[in-house]
Amino acid sequence: MTAARPGVPEDGSNLALLPGPARDFHLFHSEEGPHLLLVDGSQLFKIDEALSDQLAATAASGGAAVRALLAEHGLGGKRFIGDEPLADPPLRALSLAVAERCNLGCTYCYAEGGSFGGAARNMPWEVAEASVRRLFAQVERDERVTLAFLGGEPLTNRPVIRRATELAVAIAGERGIPIGFSITTNGTLLTPDDAEFFERYRFAVTVSLDGIGAVHDRLRPTKGGRGSYDKVIANVRPLLARQRRMQVSARVTVTPANLGLRATLDHFIALGFHTVGFSPMLSAPTRRGEMQAPDLDVLLEEMIACGREFERRTLAGETYPFANMLTALEEIHRGTHRPYPCGAGAGYFGVSASGGLFACHRFVEDEAGSMGHVSEGVDRERQRRWLAQRMVDRQEPCRSCWARYLCGGGCHYEVIHRGRPACDYIRGWLDYALGAYVRLSAQRPDLLARTVPGGPRPAGAPVTADSNSSVP
Ligand code: SF4
Ligand code: SF4
Repeated sequence: MTAARPGVPEDGSNLALLPGPARDFHLFHSEEGPHLLLVDGSQLFKIDEALSDQLAATAASGGAAVRALLAEHGLGGKRFIGDEPLADPPLRALSLAVAERCNLGCTYCYAEGGSFGGAARNMPWEVAEASVRRLFAQVERDERVTLAFLGGEPLTNRPVIRRATELAVAIAGERGIPIGFSITTNGTLLTPDDAEFFERYRFAVTVSLDGIGAVHDRLRPTKGGRGSYDKVIANVRPLLARQRRMQVSARVTVTPANLGLRATLDHFIALGFHTVGFSPMLSAPTRRGEMQAPDLDVLLEEMIACGREFERRTLAGETYPFANMLTALEEIHRGTHRPYPCGAGAGYFGVSASGGLFACHRFVEDEAGSMGHVSEGVDRERQRRWLAQRMVDRQEPCRSCWARYLCGGGCHYEVIHRGRPACDYIRGWLDYALGAYVRLSAQRPDLLARTVPGGPRPAGAPVTADSNSSVP
């Protein structure tokens, strides 16, 4: 038995902390033979058929038998994730809902037409300024912060985006603090001047695109019911051509109406997007466009087809920037293990147009994720309660799921508003991604090192930004 990933421990010393049978490991088979994922610490091992058979047989006998078998083989390792929730994490990332308004009428919009169920409004400059100052309030030199702009459609309030960016750049420069900017836009209002601005400040620009041509138009019409695809593509081309410092990515929200992922992926990669990623629509305020179990089965097949193409192209030395695959490989490579799905309500918050702090951009104006106000800062008591309740080991059925430290328990917003309808899909995708990782590692470790830069992540590294781990 050998460690399948550099930098993961092989010792076994804390097995008493593994309470259940199969909740603490996952066996998977690929062309490279059987492998074992030890859930705590996301440790990956190549094992022989005999141990694989023994583990499969022993899983039904209960936790003690599994622990003994793992210990016999020197497996189990020290504990990586404890029982205590994250305590008072510092604020490191904010997303500003600079416009609680939108010019599109997307069928499934989480922001309910951009206005989050209230009256359409823009964020005044005073709120944006207070947000930027709040972001820097607890930061020390060299600690990185992130400022994101979302909506509604953020570019309906372009002057505030620009002023806030320039203020943040000035403060970051004075204090020696690295800063990253991002914006998520529907692309309909982008101008060549925006391209210049985003390039200057190294923005990560995410454009929401839900398919090619008519497929996109059906899901993302204007408020008047017309299509938006041609306009978005015409607007985004100058940005795609300019990307040096900025990165322009496409994000596809997947509903039952746009499940043809391979063609979409190929098309947007050919247009020149930095990456193209998919995210299933699991919870919409209107309930329209939500994925049901049969749709999620199709989604998994489509995602794996895209992943297989990624493997083929990567082995051929080509670039194929399928974002979900790149993220999954990076997380597996680093040995990511986390007790939360993302930084929401921890180091990351969304700010409403009136300055309310919420667990993330999707919770804006939602009492379930309300966490204070930019003028006073994070409501630490509410945050403590949130972090205690939302830990993956305190969630059912997550606490007995082998995928829990890669998944983190699912997007809080979706779980709170719809539950966990996508667990089989999540585990299916992770099982595939683990197999892809060992295949790529075995066949071209040099390519993998380039594809997923950076070494293994230190155990217990805090989650501070808006990322939903290896799970699309
Ligand atoms: S959300 Fe589902 S897949 Fe993720 S950890 Fe919980 S039970 Fe597992
Ligand atoms: S994954 Fe986290 S940050 Fe992203 S929408 Fe869900 S709760 Fe918010």
